[in-house]
Amino acid sequence: MSQEKVSQEAVWEARKEIMKWSHKVEQYGFVSATDGNLSVRLADDLVMITPSGLAKGEMTLEAPIIIDMEGKKVEGAGKPSSEQKLHLEVYRARADIRAVIHAHPPKCIAFTIAGIPIETCILPEVVVTIGSVPTSAYATPTTDEVPLSIRDYLKENDAVMLARHGSLTMGACLADAFKILEKMEHSATIAIYAQMLGGIKPFTPEELQKLYNLRPSWGIQKNPSPCEHCGTCTSQTCANRSAAAGAAGMMTYSAAANQLPADLDMASLVDIIVERVREKLA
Ligand SMILES: [Zn+2]
Repeated sequence: MSQEKVSQEAVWEARKEIMKWSHKVEQYGFVSATDGNLSVRLADDLVMITPSGLAKGEMTLEAPIIIDMEGKKVEGAGKPSSEQKLHLEVYRARADIRAVIHAHPPKCIAFTIAGIPIETCILPEVVVTIGSVPTSAYATPTTDEVPLSIRDYLKENDAVMLARHGSLTMGACLADAFKILEKMEHSATIAIYAQMLGGIKPFTPEELQKLYNLRPSWGIQKNPSPCEHCGTCTSQTCANRSAAAGAAGMMTYSAAANQLPADLDMASLVDIIVERVREKLA
């Protein structure tokens, strides 16, 4: 059993990593009270995860709990996080993932509550490294609905937003998962400012393609999802995402901003503009 192969040193390193990044997650305001949970994969069938009911800023070296892939406790004093199903779903789907962070970043969550997909295709380095972050359909927290809601997105994405709930970011270590979380919240902040200043101008398809072409030279093997709002999104994944977004009551960014149907023809658009100008003048 691989449980025996995990050295005490590796367990100790995982404890240190979980404590360090739990404190960071709270410091950066990505959780409130006892929200969120962090985990590290120790072996194929063993995961170390934060306990439920403990504020991330109060995390100690001893607090994290070791569980198996069925969520059964193997070692530790407390109760494993109630969102462990989310973490185990990721580890089952992705052999390359060694660490997962589930947090409640307020600005990213605000996008999902407003019914607007989180817009990350506005900053070049985010387009190259993360892509556009999909939002899964709403699922009742802690239930089996949650792992089901993210299943389709895990293959191509290291970040998923859970509607009305929080973020899920993953990587080879907690530092990588945290970096993505920090970038997402930073992008959401910029998107909110840009919207306040008059609206978001997305990249053109040509500009995006040039950024995608950079991925191999940046050492990025996978192809994170393209932007849904610029017309470059034609893959099946995007079709699935649009369907999920529809189910979650989402609008596209531009449609949300203008309250116009996305498939509007020019003549109808002119009619609407004329009507709106008349209303203003009346
Ligand atoms: Zn949560």
